Amino acid sequence: MTEGRIPPYTVVSFHAHPDDEAMLTAGTLAAMASAGHRVVLVVATAGEAGLVSSDVAGRGPVGVRRMAELEQAAAVLGCARTVLLGYADSGLTAPTRADARSTESGLSPFAHADVDGAARRLATILVEEDADLLTVYDPVGGYGHPDHIQVHRVGCRAADLAGTPLVLAATVDRSRLRLAARLVALLGRVGILGAGLQIPDFSGAYTARAALTHRVDVRAHLAAKRAAMAAHASQASSDWGTRSLAFYLRLRAPLFRLAFGFEWYVERGRAPSRQLAGDPFDSLRSGVVTRRTGEQG
Ligand SMILES: [Zn+2]
Repeated sequence: MTEGRIPPYTVVSFHAHPDDEAMLTAGTLAAMASAGHRVVLVVATAGEAGLVSSDVAGRGPVGVRRMAELEQAAAVLGCARTVLLGYADSGLTAPTRADARSTESGLSPFAHADVDGAARRLATILVEEDADLLTVYDPVGGYGHPDHIQVHRVGCRAADLAGTPLVLAATVDRSRLRLAARLVALLGRVGILGAGLQIPDFSGAYTARAALTHRVDVRAHLAAKRAAMAAHASQASSDWGTRSLAFYLRLRAPLFRLAFGFEWYVERGRAPSRQLAGDPFDSLRSGVVTRRTGEQG
């Protein structure tokens, strides 16, 4: 047991699909890696249910392509290791338990996987890496994708099993997102931006401002974040209109900075306050959070 861990720290960033790491956490991960911390990316699925254009689909298996894109993004961000847990991508309309099919590896769609079983697989990596910090998603899975909700459940359980001291749920400040959505809708209506772009209603999505604990300024790492997003080219491809990733990548630098210059987190067990922490490791550095003994031994 070490009181007040000494940096550099080891971070495991857990995601559902390749490209989620770029949208939600890329700036934070790039900042950590460039400061000398060890950053490990773990994805539950290869994202093979992700939509792609017919042109991209014709060039081979989507999961293989998306894992190659993830490796490219990981390299740009300075990640030391990338791990695929190997669950099937549940897709946006998750199969019911009854028709949940097994994959070649014998593993089920991630959204319907046994939480303890999946958590034990992730905990093995957390123990192996002696991770100080695990990032997951908020309990609503951001915009509600069943695999994202499962990332929260599995991640929190894995941290308990492994004794990982610090858990941060990656999220977005909902009020900011709704403001941006209204702006994009307005610009779309007057024909300036976003033709064919679907703008969801974010009323129950992500996290209310009052529940946040961290706002990380990643403006110094936006080149890496943009490059990580661009690495997921298949997810910008479309036969049916503008996809959000393609739209974001077309934003000019000042707008991109406005949209992606900050990343938000909710630290598990930490009371929210009006003054948001800017350092993801804050609770480790101050000794508020210390190493625990995992249930897994
Ligand atoms: Zn996803």
